[in-house]
Amino acid sequence: MIASAAPMATIETRAFIAGTFRHGAGAAVDSINPADGSVVATLHHCTAEDAQEAIAAGKAAAEAPAWRDMLPHNRARILHHIADGIEAQIAEIAALQTADTGKTLAETGALAQSASGTFRYVAAALETMDEALTTPRGPYLTMSIHEPIGVVAAINPWNSPIASDAQKIAPALAGGNAVVLKPAEWTPLVSLKLAQICADAGLPAGLLSVLPGRGSVIGDVLVRHPDVGRIAFTGGTVTGRRVAAAAAVKFMPASLELGGKSPTIVFEDADIEQAVAGVMYGVFSSTGQSCIAGSRLFVARAIYDRFMARLVECTQALRVGPGTDAATQVAPMVHHSHRDSVAAHVAGALADGATLLCGGRAPEGPLYDKGAYYLPTILEGLPNSATICQEEVFGPVLVALPFEDEADLIAQANDSVFGLACGLWTADYRRAWRFARAIKAGTVWINTYKQFSSSTPFGGVKDSGMGREKGRDWIRSYMHQKALYWGMDEAPLAWAKTQA
Ligand code: NAD
Repeated sequence: MIASAAPMATIETRAFIAGTFRHGAGAAVDSINPADGSVVATLHHCTAEDAQEAIAAGKAAAEAPAWRDMLPHNRARILHHIADGIEAQIAEIAALQTADTGKTLAETGALAQSASGTFRYVAAALETMDEALTTPRGPYLTMSIHEPIGVVAAINPWNSPIASDAQKIAPALAGGNAVVLKPAEWTPLVSLKLAQICADAGLPAGLLSVLPGRGSVIGDVLVRHPDVGRIAFTGGTVTGRRVAAAAAVKFMPASLELGGKSPTIVFEDADIEQAVAGVMYGVFSSTGQSCIAGSRLFVARAIYDRFMARLVECTQALRVGPGTDAATQVAPMVHHSHRDSVAAHVAGALADGATLLCGGRAPEGPLYDKGAYYLPTILEGLPNSATICQEEVFGPVLVALPFEDEADLIAQANDSVFGLACGLWTADYRRAWRFARAIKAGTVWINTYKQFSSSTPFGGVKDSGMGREKGRDWIRSYMHQKALYWGMDEAPLAWAKTQA
């Protein structure tokens, strides 16, 4: 059944610069629906001059007393209005994001819901963000307070636009800053929709700009501009390293949410059906285009053959189709060229000697011919040192490896430049605890996978990045900390005592 997508008559294609919607001054580009190659909308990229204007407007708006001195409960009220605006339009947002990214409507609806939840969580946290009276060591009162940074640059990838936009905009605004957001080249439309929702919610002009455009142009200006004081980046490790180097030059705080090659581990005592479902969801949902995809599977040798047979059987039964079909589990990839890069990774693994257990090609037939589809793919037969086990594919590709014992397993699982996530499937909670502590990763899921909570900090170690999103300290990561000392002594300072 093809679910009827909500009408998208009001697609906003103009950039949002300094409180006004207008076309970027750069080249016209098409945003493509990866399900069939059709043009969803044509929009103009912004230029470096557009970015400079947005930064100047952000600086003025962040410094304006009306925003800088706004009491937290009033700022929280605006965040709630934004959440209301998102919730009121979930069907339209989902339809737009499905057209732009290919994802299923179920997933894009959930991402919109998550974005609204982020604004609400941050609004609530803002109202409970107490400052500290610290313990004095003299005749004074000491305080630690937090102040806005100024202009925050947010740079996002294409895989979960509205959710990742909210995860930067909400805490940055709550911290009293202005935000200049650069969405990914392939998926700008839902970020422009969010800009409209923020404007309608009463966010003062200039506090948010959304600039579609190229990373090498807009992203580069945002990172290097002297008036940008904080960078919130999500994307690939290569780009992240470049961003971090530019941030270091001006001592700018940066959070970097980067790539992954996360291990999922199935022990011999795992509930097989639960583990099969979890492994499939971990790597094939979102068509594998997820930083936390559990793309390296380790299975205990004792159950390897039995587990893999069941996993392959279930994987081959996954329904591949357009994101608008309510039955679809594996939707098209974001772009035809990305599908081709995934296919190239698989070809490389096969050339290295991998055995193909299923998938390994695009599906065939009229439904698929024009779309960026790729079948869920499982490979085995290569060591963990192989390229396919070490590089992020960012597609529906799982590589399976047997393990012998705990020492062998930990060594293999941690043998990766990445450290984003890990999944453990076992009935033994002591073993789960041992492994959860031994794995070098920002998040470990035990007998579940790919679950999130706004209150639980998320981020990576090693080449998966630095800094954390979510949690009670989220807003503070978008603020400077300042110390205040209040002298309580009536007498002059003793050191200055003279005979004069
Ligand atoms: P990418 O690194 O190519 O691009 C990310 C963003 O950076 C885009 O907006 C791009 O235009 C911009 N950019 C490119 N060059 C830039 C430059 N020189 N200066 C500043 N900005 C620049 O990544 P992608 O292909 O869009 O996304 C996929 C990657 O994102 C994967 O590696 C994935 O793991 C990662 N990701 C990580 C997380 C996480 O939370 N850890 C979440 C989602 C995606």
